[in-house]
Amino acid sequence: MRHQFVIGNWKMNGDLRSNSRLLEELLEAFSPNKACSLVICSSYPYLQQVAARLSGQKIQFGAQDVSAFDSGAHTGDVSPLMLTDFGCQYVLLGHSERRSDHQESNDDIAGKFAASLKAGLIPVLCVGETLEDREAGLTDDVVSDQITSVIESLGIEAFQQAIIAYEPIWAIGTGKTASPEQAQQVHHTIRSLIKTWDVELGNKLPIIYGGSVNAENADALFQQPDIDGGLVGGASLDMKAFIRIYQSAVSARHEQGEVQ
Ligand code: PEP
Repeated sequence: MRHQFVIGNWKMNGDLRSNSRLLEELLEAFSPNKACSLVICSSYPYLQQVAARLSGQKIQFGAQDVSAFDSGAHTGDVSPLMLTDFGCQYVLLGHSERRSDHQESNDDIAGKFAASLKAGLIPVLCVGETLEDREAGLTDDVVSDQITSVIESLGIEAFQQAIIAYEPIWAIGTGKTASPEQAQQVHHTIRSLIKTWDVELGNKLPIIYGGSVNAENADALFQQPDIDGGLVGGASLDMKAFIRIYQSAVSARHEQGEVQ
């Protein structure tokens, strides 16, 4: 049985007060299940706040990006060692907003992936196609290239301690979700790609879906056999919805178990 993940991406939102309210709401309503990890990714200035409040709780936290370097003359960047210094466990890499706002290339992302693994962070590699790619029938090629560039640079072992998030760019923050069948098809392609390198790893690698996941569509998405939870943007700022999404991931895993 594969482990499930629900990861909240707060993006560049929040302040001390609203974060504190969200964390209290989360802790009050959250009931952990060992089948599914819950992770909060806040922006850098608030990581310490999130870390302090989640200390001793069964909720983990992560960053939204990281440098490929350990230290030195990289003004404005944050190194993986700085993140692990205070217990950060996860990092989002190659989110489409970083690829588009900061022109991050597949090579840049492979460098960040290597540095993250070296520091002991779990990278969450975000991949996905634009609407133009999809309409041109290029979805599988684009997503495969994004993953293959990490494998070619670091070897397939790099995915032993990693998560892949499939996020069609046209579905992020738009309210347009991939249908469960569309998402499943790409997740299956990703799993098959990993299996061409390492079957055992392909079977166990968590592949989560992101793109306008909400409390209403999470059940149908997460019940797909190759979808192991979600990367959730907007709905992670609404704790009622976020917790329902977590519960969908927990129960989807049980249903997958029954059909396996
Ligand atoms: C994201 O930020 O990765 C994301 C999927 O956002 P949203 O859920 O708002 O589409």
